[in-house]
Amino acid sequence: MKIIMLGAPGAGKGTQAKKIAEAYGIPHISTGDIFRANLKEGTELGLKAKTYMDKGELVPDELTCDLVVDRISKDDAKNGYVLDGFPRTIPQADALTNALNARGEKVDFAVDVDVPDENIINRMGGRRACVGCGATYHLMFAPPKKEGICDVCGKELILRDDDKPETVGNRLRVYHEQTQPLIDYYTKAGVLHTVDGTQDIDKVFEDIKGILEA
Ligand code: ADP
Ligand code: ADP
Ligand code: ZN
Repeated sequence: MKIIMLGAPGAGKGTQAKKIAEAYGIPHISTGDIFRANLKEGTELGLKAKTYMDKGELVPDELTCDLVVDRISKDDAKNGYVLDGFPRTIPQADALTNALNARGEKVDFAVDVDVPDENIINRMGGRRACVGCGATYHLMFAPPKKEGICDVCGKELILRDDDKPETVGNRLRVYHEQTQPLIDYYTKAGVLHTVDGTQDIDKVFEDIKGILEA
């Protein structure tokens, strides 16, 4: 099962992708997580990516596409995967389509988690991320058991720099310009499904399961 998650920053792609990965035993592949892990390790890729992420802009396709194509070629991705945050541009979608075509494969489901811009601002302001393992929480909607502390690894929770309001506006603009056209792209490919991402986390997941198991 090859699934891609579409939706604005903060729509809940990561939250749902984790649940899908757990339920169906496939890897969750997040380009944002890969860039942040690289930054933490101080790699050249991480340092390059940071200059774009800090401004709320997209990391160039040249730095992104090969990385994902390599990752989905790994052994653990043989039975499928859920891609979270990739593709984000038409050239990225083409790169994915071409890599899959070359092996006689295709994306099975493109799940668009639909949340209006008004709701996104609140989502992002309340998002907290673990400095240790990258797990994501929300102050109101998905709080950790102990305030400020990650349930998974016990490390500190922070507001990501790029979740500050001054950057979120730009990320939304970039989303509408560069990523939203993918809704049309995957509609034409016959694999697009939309879920109402304003519902609570468990209800959104129920709807996604309904789509994947239809
Ligand atoms: P969110 O889940 O809130 O949308 P991500 O963790 O997916 O945030 O991405 C954080 C940042 O990493 C993006 O704003 C962008 O700068 C960069 N990024 C992540 N995925 C991609 C991608 N596929 N192409 C280009 N840049 C990306
Ligand atoms: P994305 O990966 O699309 O950027 P996340 O999954 O990180 O989005 O979710 C953004 C924030 O909103 C997080 O703090 C998360 O806990 C919270 N969140 C996710 N889904 C919902 C939901 N259905 N209702 C309320 N808050 C949510
Ligand atoms: Zn953690």
